[in-house]
Amino acid sequence: FKESLQNIADLPPMTLDSKIIHLHANINSVKEIGQVMRNGASGVGLFRTEYLYMDRESLPSEDEQFEVYKHAAIELKGRPIVIRTLDIGGDKKLDYMPLAKEDNPFLGYRAIRISLNRTELFKTQLKAILRASTFGHVKIMYPMITSLYEVRQANALLEEAKNELRAEGRPFNAKIEVGVTIEVPAAALIADILASEVSFLSIGTNDLVQYVLAVDRMNENIAHMYDPFHPAVIRLLKHIIDSARRVGIPVGVCGELAGDIRALPIWLGFGIEELSISVHTLLQVKHRLLTSEYAKCHEVMEAVLACKTSEEIIELLAKTEQTET
Ligand code: PEP
Ligand code: MG
Repeated sequence: FKESLQNIADLPPMTLDSKIIHLHANINSVKEIGQVMRNGASGVGLFRTEYLYMDRESLPSEDEQFEVYKHAAIELKGRPIVIRTLDIGGDKKLDYMPLAKEDNPFLGYRAIRISLNRTELFKTQLKAILRASTFGHVKIMYPMITSLYEVRQANALLEEAKNELRAEGRPFNAKIEVGVTIEVPAAALIADILASEVSFLSIGTNDLVQYVLAVDRMNENIAHMYDPFHPAVIRLLKHIIDSARRVGIPVGVCGELAGDIRALPIWLGFGIEELSISVHTLLQVKHRLLTSEYAKCHEVMEAVLACKTSEEIIELLAKTEQTET
């Protein structure tokens, strides 16, 4: 099946009734870009840069990061790449930068919260990304945003980074697009407010599900409660997508749920035009996309929204899948 899937890599990513959905890839390392290209992805929707900081003895320098981002931008030959700024804390640790022990690390000092506190570390990364932006279609994304204040603070530091580069005489794309991950319920509920000050939103379902359901995504004792099809999650997803649409900015999905083929009719029904998926499951989603009817998904989505439990939703989606084939 895997080999036959490779045959669809170069087909346009569209439904039977010709609706194009951009299928981007999530990567943790630039080593995956070869596979991104082989699998015919439209770009990289999420580059998790924290892996660049992990398994080493000290922080990567601006030049070191620049080389990595530049390489990625060039390899993608004009396809977009969303570079997410450092997302450590929670379950991801840096040996050389010990953080205080916390009772609730996922509710603690992580991601943008660290970047806004360690501004030199953050600006070093922003400068490296900005310098790479002249080599391809590079975008920036801030993780774990919970308020507009944080977006403004991050953007102010981005402006400082640009000014420093100007003073150094280094070129960059001054109009680089900046987006935020929507992965905290607070951000989801004010998605329209955030959308009015950024260029795009990307829904991080992995964290969003854990925060909406109050279920630690790493805790095996409650793994069965980690349920992306919970009606509360589905309702909130709709709210985010409708908010972005009202403001008129693009919204994509970069959490694992983007790569779950069962969820595809929901995304299509919600009007999502961009999914970012691990390179390993991208072609499976594409296969489902090629055999889907866009016109039917609105009805499926309405039925999903009327369900009272995730069991009902999962059953309904399973039936939808059977009638397709
Ligand atoms: C997410 O939370 O959905 C996401 C894409 O980020 P990560 O899995 O890296 O936390
Ligand atoms: Mg996340």
